[in-house]
Amino acid sequence: MRITTVVMALALMTLLAACPRPETAATNPDDRVHAARIEADPAPLGEPEGGCMGEPIERTDAEWREILTPQQYHVLRQKGTERAFTGAYHATKEPGVYVCAACEQELFPSETKFDSGTGWPSFTAPIASENVETQLDRSHGMVRTEVVCSRCGSHLGHVFNDGPGPTGLRFCINSVSLRHVSPEDQKSGS
Ligand SMILES: [Zn+2]
Repeated sequence: MRITTVVMALALMTLLAACPRPETAATNPDDRVHAARIEADPAPLGEPEGGCMGEPIERTDAEWREILTPQQYHVLRQKGTERAFTGAYHATKEPGVYVCAACEQELFPSETKFDSGTGWPSFTAPIASENVETQLDRSHGMVRTEVVCSRCGSHLGHVFNDGPGPTGLRFCINSVSLRHVSPEDQKSGS
């Protein structure tokens, strides 16, 4: 008797499991509209955190290694310096804005770029003072002021007091820490 009950219970469970669930999502018009909305949403679920400009970004060392090229990782995350005159932007004059290569935060407008003759992209001012942070750097037997991205903490370069007017500052930045965005790209929102 007990065995029969168990067998019957098992059979019932199997039947329930095999029975297809009623497809409410496909038959309920409200659900269909909802599903369509999700599909049309340009920023679906799963968007990485910190998608909004300005929100601080914190990543593990392993994540940075995965995201960045080896040269970017060396300069941005290990405070390296690219060799003078080797970077992509040391001699460029194109209009636009230079964003952080690690997190896309806007850093330097092309209007503040000048030819310093040093072999590194040089700027008199950032696009907004809060977009960069400075800290004392006593490495390599020198006392310098390091410039980092305020959003992701990545190393950008150094700032010196021998720049041209109006600020008298020279932000000496590694090309590899930057990405140039043209005015056309800015308009299209990328
Ligand atoms: Zn950044």
